[in-house]
Amino acid sequence: MKRRTFLAGIMAAPFAWGEAARAREGAGNASLEDIRSNWKALLAPGADAELSTAPLVRSNADWKKILSDIQYRVLREEDTERAYTSPLDKETRPGVYVCAGCSLPLFSSRMKYDSGSGWPSFFTHIPGHLGTKKDHFLWFLSRTEYHCVRCGGHQGHVFDDGPPPTGERWCNNGVALRFIPYGAG
Ligand code: FE
Repeated sequence: MKRRTFLAGIMAAPFAWGEAARAREGAGNASLEDIRSNWKALLAPGADAELSTAPLVRSNADWKKILSDIQYRVLREEDTERAYTSPLDKETRPGVYVCAGCSLPLFSSRMKYDSGSGWPSFFTHIPGHLGTKKDHFLWFLSRTEYHCVRCGGHQGHVFDDGPPPTGERWCNNGVALRFIPYGAG
């Protein structure tokens, strides 16, 4: 009888662990869903942001007039700013991060974390506002580059060493973003 109880116990254990894992995952997903879908709650009323993803096309000459040299190199030529140079790396106030080229919101402060990499990092992004493509920076290695869907501006690279609940690290150039603190108007 005791042996049967023991066997029933070890038989049941994997299901119990499975249930616990599903419960944790469920809670994580609900929270992530909330963070991803309710980002507008962090957008300051009257903020200078563009909510349409309709493509914005400008000539390189026009971009050069609008952007600083480093912004142009990062956004239009896929360059990378030096690590630890952006004040946005340590920005922790509530608000929304928009594309420095076209003002489309890309991340909210609830998506941000300190990765220690020296670049502003996020574990997810505003749905539908970023596009990805493979970036073959050496013949045997590739990274996933991502860009703003409205102006096509290069933002950064996404890696799979981020924190829960996504495990993603959206590693962004600070100069490619403009931060709008909540309540700044
Ligand atoms: Fe943009």
